Amino acid sequence: MIREKVARLSTRMHDRPQYPTQGAVLFVDLERREHFSKYLPVGVLRSFLSGRGANMFLLHNLLLDGREPLDPRIPMIFGSGVFTGTVPSAARGNLTSVAPDSNAILDSNCGDFFPAFLKLNGYDHLVLYGQAAGWTLLELSGGEVRFHDATPYLGMDNTDLTRAVEKDFSCAERKDMAMARITRAGENLVLCSGIMGGPKAIYARCGTGAKMGSLRLKAVMILGRGAQSALSAAVKENNRELARKILAASVVKYALKKVGTPFLYKPSRLLGAMGTKNNQETNWYDTLDADNFDVYRPGMDGCYQCPIRCRPLNDLTREKSYRGIRGDGAYDRHDKGDGPDYVTLGKMGPMIGIREPEQVLRLNNILNDLGLDSASTGSAIAWAMELYQRGIITAKDTGGLDLTWGNYEVIEKLLYMTARRDRFGDVIADSARAVERGRYPAEALKYRMAVKGLFQSDPHDARIIKGFALGLAVSTRGMDHLRNRPTLEINAKINDNREFKTSLYGGTVAPEPTSYEGKEHAVATCEKTFAVGDAVGICRFATKLFNSPSTADYEDFALQLKELTGEEFTPAQLDGIGRNITGFERLINARLGLTEKDDTLPDRWFEEEITAGPFEGEKIDRAAFEALKVRYYSLLGLNAAGVPSLEWHRRLAGAITGFAVQVTLPEGIPGAPEGAVIVDQPVSDVAGLREALKKRLPHAARKLEDSSLIVSVNGTMVLSNEDATPVRSGDEVAVMRIIAGG
Ligand code: SF4
Repeated sequence: MIREKVARLSTRMHDRPQYPTQGAVLFVDLERREHFSKYLPVGVLRSFLSGRGANMFLLHNLLLDGREPLDPRIPMIFGSGVFTGTVPSAARGNLTSVAPDSNAILDSNCGDFFPAFLKLNGYDHLVLYGQAAGWTLLELSGGEVRFHDATPYLGMDNTDLTRAVEKDFSCAERKDMAMARITRAGENLVLCSGIMGGPKAIYARCGTGAKMGSLRLKAVMILGRGAQSALSAAVKENNRELARKILAASVVKYALKKVGTPFLYKPSRLLGAMGTKNNQETNWYDTLDADNFDVYRPGMDGCYQCPIRCRPLNDLTREKSYRGIRGDGAYDRHDKGDGPDYVTLGKMGPMIGIREPEQVLRLNNILNDLGLDSASTGSAIAWAMELYQRGIITAKDTGGLDLTWGNYEVIEKLLYMTARRDRFGDVIADSARAVERGRYPAEALKYRMAVKGLFQSDPHDARIIKGFALGLAVSTRGMDHLRNRPTLEINAKINDNREFKTSLYGGTVAPEPTSYEGKEHAVATCEKTFAVGDAVGICRFATKLFNSPSTADYEDFALQLKELTGEEFTPAQLDGIGRNITGFERLINARLGLTEKDDTLPDRWFEEEITAGPFEGEKIDRAAFEALKVRYYSLLGLNAAGVPSLEWHRRLAGAITGFAVQVTLPEGIPGAPEGAVIVDQPVSDVAGLREALKKRLPHAARKLEDSSLIVSVNGTMVLSNEDATPVRSGDEVAVMRIIAGG
């Protein structure tokens, strides 16, 4: 079935680039060890750009409905942005599929060198499907595709695997090789594992490591830096200007370049907005403020040709007072490493009750080596610790592990056990799906800090900042800040300048972070801007609105898009593309069974007040939150089911599949608040349309099977031969209840 979908899609693709700098889509059937490449139509660029946007186009066209995410026939798709490898801070790419560790799409953004090497080697997207007969290392090199036996690398984690591959292929990572790989954790289908893209860089969240493991794919290695096409004088000048602009932003100059994202810990702590002990508390110690890590930071590192270089390195052994983590003079490889960023600091610190910087650094280094996603793993451990605290699980369930908050020895051990799925590690490895898989009783769900089945990514407790809360609720991949967080909500200078704030978000947003007023404008604007950023491949830290009002914006993107693709985009058109991408993601989520009810927050944030700090007493008011969500839907043009309204969906369908049929439905069909939906999966007859309609509205599938429902096409009733009655794009179809008798 997947092969038919691939074949059908390829007939709509081209044999040559459709615009300058376009890379190919490489399709790789791992089961048959076959591959071919094609180029996407230019219409995909015009509607979704590349990277995350075109990845969604590919996923929607290749998705088989009703399959489990770990089914190898569900493809995983690497994609680089239009600018990746060419424009400053555009080192990023996305990985897209269906998430094993949530109920939504899988979509993950990563930097380091892999996305740039992919693009510079001539590929915009790499579509992988089918389960390899044996563990495989896929090599892309000089236009060639090779399949290697990966058995010798099985069981290797990040560091050892990298060294072994470098030795075997006589190469050096980041010099002439880049690699996306899984560790033991991915091999073992650990749901909180990621795909490592470097010593620290990770395609994180959503269970990426398990998804790659399900294909029996140990690594994708790109040998050779590829060739940068000759850049025009205008591109180079635009790049210089952009680098100057990014580096002039105060948050870049004084924080990101010097200490990296851990600078965020202190403001969050002072606000009393720290996710502590699985969000039971919101305060934590100043021992983890970024300056306490200074002595252990030998320098900063960065992704491919990024002028920011925001990644702190760490070396515990450079401080004489450090005598090994147990104070016994014993050191090991995990006393040095890369990181942490703020997410890891929060999740390996207050979230699980750790307060010593040395312990956070060690846990960070171990996670990087084991290929575990710090956000999901930290949240899974915090969830288990709260269940232990409440007696919902006991030492009998944990195999004797004492899951008391801050128990460093047990936490370190548990990370290894998780990667191996060893004893209680097997439970943590099931991540947010632990109840569904029968590991915990149902009451545990009350304490799971997740949305759409995905644990929260960032360490902020968002009960105070209502814009953050809305963003986490509506994010298309689950409880994640990177899709739309309006970080400037905690910037006093911006809050005090009403006019400027209005101009930033295109609508009036209340200055008080605790207010619900106008927050829909902030979240919607960030969401669209960040989606465009992902589609061009630029880092969030260099994109306007994530941390700064003065980093790269639509105008900058439009300038370079014109130079690199020949296509002209206005800022308003780019804003429309950002809206298209997230709207499109919502349509895929609807196919996966998500509804507007899934755009919500964990009960704890509605029911429990913050108990300390300057915002004591804050929580989320359900009615005010629901009203805010309705305003957000309306602002974006989503219907009450949280998907693009009919006209928007019709236009999207034209760009996605080239097929759109509007189907009017009888009353009471769930998921169709407008009384009609667009079917965008190409079908040829009424019988096929009925099937496609059930996939478009999975919660209505049973109702749609009702034999009293008949169909009319362009006003003509179809009373027989449904499988021989043609349906064409643009037809008007109605499903209605037949009234029999008389
Ligand atoms: S800002 Fe940091 S994470 Fe972003 S591309 Fe640069 S080095 Fe990588």
